[in-house]
Amino acid sequence: MAKHKGRAWHSRLLAAALGVTAVAAAASVWTAQADTTGGQQPQGRVLSPDARDRPVAKVAADIAHASDRGARGVNITIDDGPDPVWTPQVLRLLKDRGVKATFCMVGTQAQAYPDLVKAVVADGHRLCNHTVSHDTTMDTRSEAYQSQQILDAERMITKASGGVRSQYYRAPGGAFTPYSRQLAASHGMRPLGWNVDTKDFEHPGADVMVATVKREISNGPTVLFHDAGGERSETVAALREVLPWLKEQGYSFGFPVR
Ligand SMILES: [Zn+2]
Repeated sequence: MAKHKGRAWHSRLLAAALGVTAVAAAASVWTAQADTTGGQQPQGRVLSPDARDRPVAKVAADIAHASDRGARGVNITIDDGPDPVWTPQVLRLLKDRGVKATFCMVGTQAQAYPDLVKAVVADGHRLCNHTVSHDTTMDTRSEAYQSQQILDAERMITKASGGVRSQYYRAPGGAFTPYSRQLAASHGMRPLGWNVDTKDFEHPGADVMVATVKREISNGPTVLFHDAGGERSETVAALREVLPWLKEQGYSFGFPVR
């Protein structure tokens, strides 16, 4: 973390020395950091943790579902954490299987467990902003409220990660609005949907979750799991079973398009 902060400061000092603004220097760093080819989590080049300072990246505001791996790609997305019990188990499983995923984090959870946020980033996964407090009525609330929920969460997640930013925004319960999509995109976060809902939060049993993925993966590549918000042993068991199956079917694991 100290190293990341040091680099951010270094870029600002360098900018000052060259007589350009820190914002312009940060923008050039962000351009270099933008990862459109997929596969690698950008690390090492880090911006200010303060979201208000962030440069605007050109990110589409429509809700993404596609995979950067194309037609046989699968995007594993893991929501509502990090959680001290379940996130480490999910991380171990993903590492064992060589799978990269996208973690949609709740701001207060990220703030409470910064080491887990850093562990997610260190393993090459991507971060997704899932608001401060997971209010599934976001789409009925004022723009000021939506803005606070998204931008405060981003500050919390970015601080917890040591400066690595969310590349996506997923509204709790899918409660997107045109305003929240635009706001997220203007802060470099692609709105992120899903195609396959394992409904793990209803505890249907790992077998049912696996069957859901097998039945519905042809609908689209983005699969929704949860590593927090309740007991998640079924989620871990379902991932253990379904990841090898997907590989056997010829799918590869990638990230949602940005
Ligand atoms: Zn959620």
